[in-house]
Parts: sequence; structure tokens; C-alpha cells
Amino acid sequence: MDTPVLIRRAEIAAWRVDVRIADGRILEISEGLPAEPGEQVFDADGGALLPGLNDHHLHLYALAAARASVQCGPPAVADAAALVAALRAADAALPAGDWLRGIGYHESVAGDIGRQWLDEVLPSRPARLQHRSGRLWLLNSAALAQVEQSRDDPLERRGDLATGRLYDADTWLRSRIGGRRPALGPLSRWLASRGLSGLCDTSHDNDAASWEAFAEARRSGELLQSLRVMGNAGLDTMTPRAGLQRGQRKFHLHDHALPDFDALCAGIRAAHAADRGVAFHCVSRVDLAFALAALRESGVNEGDRIEHASVCPPELLDQVGELGLAVVTQPGFVYSRGDVYLRDVEESDRPWLYRLRGFLDRGIRLAGSSDAPYGDADPWLAMDAAVRRRSAAGQPVAGMEALTPEQALALFTTPLEAPGSALPVLEHGAVANLCLLTQPWSKARLALAEVQVRACWREGRLIHAGPAQP
Ligand SMILES: [Zn+2]
Repeated sequence: MDTPVLIRRAEIAAWRVDVRIADGRILEISEGLPAEPGEQVFDADGGALLPGLNDHHLHLYALAAARASVQCGPPAVADAAALVAALRAADAALPAGDWLRGIGYHESVAGDIGRQWLDEVLPSRPARLQHRSGRLWLLNSAALAQVEQSRDDPLERRGDLATGRLYDADTWLRSRIGGRRPALGPLSRWLASRGLSGLCDTSHDNDAASWEAFAEARRSGELLQSLRVMGNAGLDTMTPRAGLQRGQRKFHLHDHALPDFDALCAGIRAAHAADRGVAFHCVSRVDLAFALAALRESGVNEGDRIEHASVCPPELLDQVGELGLAVVTQPGFVYSRGDVYLRDVEESDRPWLYRLRGFLDRGIRLAGSSDAPYGDADPWLAMDAAVRRRSAAGQPVAGMEALTPEQALALFTTPLEAPGSALPVLEHGAVANLCLLTQPWSKARLALAEVQVRACWREGRLIHAGPAQP
């Protein structure tokens, strides 16, 4: 059993109170509570005490791998000289023989590079760089020497010589170099230091083996947060356990290669029959219209949701509302990708990009997330973007979709199992998922991107205290 905790001088809804936590729940909230023997006392010094944050859409193992990888593209790396410097620095820091893994490469950095270019920079360490599209790996000679080659392998060749370019062959590459999952501990601690006590892993290929890996990470204490796991039909028979929820079946739609409509409807019905909701990855009008048609045909369950809803014009928003679906969005993309959207997205779609207020005004359940590693994992940056609705270069992006700081916070405090439903209230008997800020809310709300988290509790257990983790 965890030690009972007394949080002194915390701010809840503009009141300064003391809060007693025991057995994972809030036991008492009052002014001037005396400390009891054996109680751990925590002085909040007037900082806002909020419900613990939930990130409703991210990819944990990809994020852990990305954090251990070298950034090879914009904005971190803009040209060939910067890339060479980044690769050489990583090479110097890694133990001998370890693979160097780069991510986010784009031709704008150094053109159509391959084996030869990489060999000049990294002559002896095995290295693989992933293109930003996620479809292409670039390997140097030391890496190629470690992947067993054969006549029918997917390596691109010029004559007999492998160019080091490898398209759409993640599974093959993993089978050659071993697919060990990265450790989640450092990442989980960092997420706790930003106030997150709950996470939803939305990877569409999560299967029974992924479930077991997550369960082990929870059991060992490596993963500090409560976790909801979406994935494929392999999760239908998994049994939820403490801190681990079985999430929706995830359907990944791509408008250039949509699945067979009847097969999709059968998949939705099968998920519902297994007592699971469904979730659809929808980043274009076409994806969303297709998902809505399939849901209308198959029937909707309470847990069904739309991920991203990146482009949602009024007629589709109405349908989302009629069907009673929840939407899980990523306001952070307005900041990090806003300038690209303003350049590349058709003008007629721009008012409907990553909408927020439009959903709330229509009474649609709405929740926030990072989509890390594809977006920044810091929930406070996403909240800030939801309020400011500006691109990194300062351009407004569908500005009328802006939220108040309180609405932006609510995107991340809404329950993990029911995004967009009633917010948790910090009161006697409530589960002690808590996020304590260094400032009162009246100050924090003015600059959400700068918020510092003093402490974080998941079910009464302290999972972060002190300054942010690196
Ligand atoms: Zn995602």
C-alpha cells in the first residue's frame, strides 16, 4: 500500500486547500488539515492542482525509438553540413558496434543520398536513416554487411551493387537486425514530468504480443501511466487488468488505397461483437467520408471514435454529430505543420483544418492528443496551440477554431476510457490522478507552453516530483 499523502496549500478552482490522499483516492479536501503520523507532506505553495493529464493518441514504442534516434531533417537539421555534424556527434557518443538510427530525413537536406554518401560520413558504424515519409530506409555499407542479402531481398540494386536504399520493407529489415522493443522507462518518466498519468497507444498493428509487452512494462513499474491499448483483432480476446485497458480496434484508412467497403463493415461488426469500439485514422475528407459511411452501414457503439479528423467540413461535421462519435484531435499540428498546411492544403479545405470549437459547438465529444512521435509529445505545447491557433512562423490557422485555456486543458483531462465525456472533479472519493503545477492557474493559463509541472500522481502514487526530466 502507498504512503498516505497530504498536499498542503494547493489551488483547486481558485481556492487554496489541503488535500489528503490514501488508497489511491482523494480522502479529504479542506483548509488547514493537520498532518497525521506517517503521512508524507507535500507543500504545493499555491500551485494549481489539476486532474492528471491523458494523452489520448500516441505511439509509445515508436516514440521511445525516436527519442533514441538522430534527427536527420527539418527543423532540427536543414542542410548537409548540419546532417554530417549530427551524425558524427551521435557516432562519437554511441558504444562501438551499436547501430546508429536516424529519422526524419528529407531530400531538402542533402538530396537523394544513399550508401556512398553515408559511407563517407560513417565509414565503420552500421547506420540506418529513415526518410520522413516512413517508407524508405537508407543504409551504409557497414549496415548492409550485417543484413543477410539474397537474390530476392527487397534491397534496391544498381547492377549487382545494393544502393543502400530500401523501400517499404520494415518487416524484412526488422527480421534481419532484430526487432527488440526499446525501453519505455525514460520516456514514461518524462511524460510524467509533463503531468501525464494516462496514455492511449493507438498503433493499428498492436497485437497480442504488443499487449503482453505493455502488460509487462506496467507490471515491472517501467511504465508509470495507466494505459489504454488500441490495436488489431488480436486484442479481441485480451483481458483488461490493473492499469491496462483494452482499447478500440483501429482502422488505418489511406485515401489512395481504401479497403473493401464490405470487408471493413464486417470488421466493425466483429469488433462490436467482441465488445470493443472502433477507431478510424482519418486525415482527409475522403478518409472521413468513407469511415462515416461504413459506420452508418454497420451501426455505432458508444466507444467508436475518429482519430485526427484533420479536414472536417460542415457536412461531415454534422454527420459525426448525428452518429454520436467522439473525435480525438492533435492541436499541436497547427503549430508544427501549420506553415506546410498553409502552403500545400487546398484553400477550400483550410478553414476546416484540425477543428476544435466547431466540434464543441456541435456538442461532439472532443479530446486532445499528441500523436507522438509524429507530433511533439508535450501536452502543454498542444494546449498552447489550441488557444493560439498559429503556425510556427506565426500565421493564423483556422483562427475561429481557437479554444479558451480552460477548454484546451479539458481536452487532456477528459477520461482515458471515454474521451470528451464529463470531466473528472477533484472531490472526496475521486481517483487521485493529479497534476500539480508550479503556479496558480490564473498565471499558468496565460502561457500554457511554459507551464512547469511540480508533481504528478497516478492513482495516488507519486510518479513525478521536482523539475522536468531530460
Ligand atoms: Zn497516430
